Amino acid sequence: MVITRFAPSPTGRLHMGHAYSALFAESLAIVEGGKFFLRIEDIDKNRCREEHVEGIYEDLKWLGICWDSEVLFQSTRFDEYKNSINILRGMDVLYPCFCSRKRIEIEQSNVGLAPHGPGSPKYSGNCRAIESEEREDRIVKGESHSWRLDCSKASAITGELQWFDQLAGNMNMEPSILGDVIISRKDIATSYHLAVTLDDAEQGVTLISRGEDLRESTHVHRMLQCLLGLPVPQWCHHKLITNSAGKRFSKREGSLTLKEMRDSGIKAEDLRGELGF
Ligand code: GLU
Repeated sequence: MVITRFAPSPTGRLHMGHAYSALFAESLAIVEGGKFFLRIEDIDKNRCREEHVEGIYEDLKWLGICWDSEVLFQSTRFDEYKNSINILRGMDVLYPCFCSRKRIEIEQSNVGLAPHGPGSPKYSGNCRAIESEEREDRIVKGESHSWRLDCSKASAITGELQWFDQLAGNMNMEPSILGDVIISRKDIATSYHLAVTLDDAEQGVTLISRGEDLRESTHVHRMLQCLLGLPVPQWCHHKLITNSAGKRFSKREGSLTLKEMRDSGIKAEDLRGELGF
């Protein structure tokens, strides 16, 4: 059975781009007589708000979207994330990164939430070369650190991998496409990449649909699935819808939220029609 999902982070109100993504995922499930799940990606306590969780429910209901079963909250899954981090450490594919606060700040703004689109600088690999004795020593002394995936060591274990995108076809995994990504942040002990990979497996998702700005991340997720022995779903990276000026909908662009559209009298069925659903 086909199982799809919508996995928003409650960092603000939903906009048209979210509506398209949610309707797209729901329609893939409906067409196949499958299931559609909702997951709240709330690992980053500094950015996520309970009120936005309520807002997500409200907006999806307004759009007429129905999700199956219980909602999965990532904030309930830290034990599972820890367990997998230990497995990956046991395989020697993670290394501690002690890089400076400033550098980590730049990186942290990218790793808690999904890295939408290319452009985030790859990590230089600075801490990869630290000898294991020194690593142990610095950890024992309490130096703060994140854990990074050594993508070349990891790909030496996994070998070549493929994944299938229902729109783009067969893809060869590119292990270093995002560099040595952070798997466990120093402040929240997981990351977007790890949490999303484990939770899609937990929810039995067979078809991961999301915007094409997350396609690069899929290479990392495919590698994690192989390392952790998780089932391999299919993907469908959909186009990103844009406004009349050709810009993507986003909070940064000050896009109208669904609530604002609703409050201004726009009808859900008209919005659905405009989005092609
Ligand atoms: N939580 C992510 C976001 O807000 C989506 C993750 C995904 O679909 O893989 O963009």
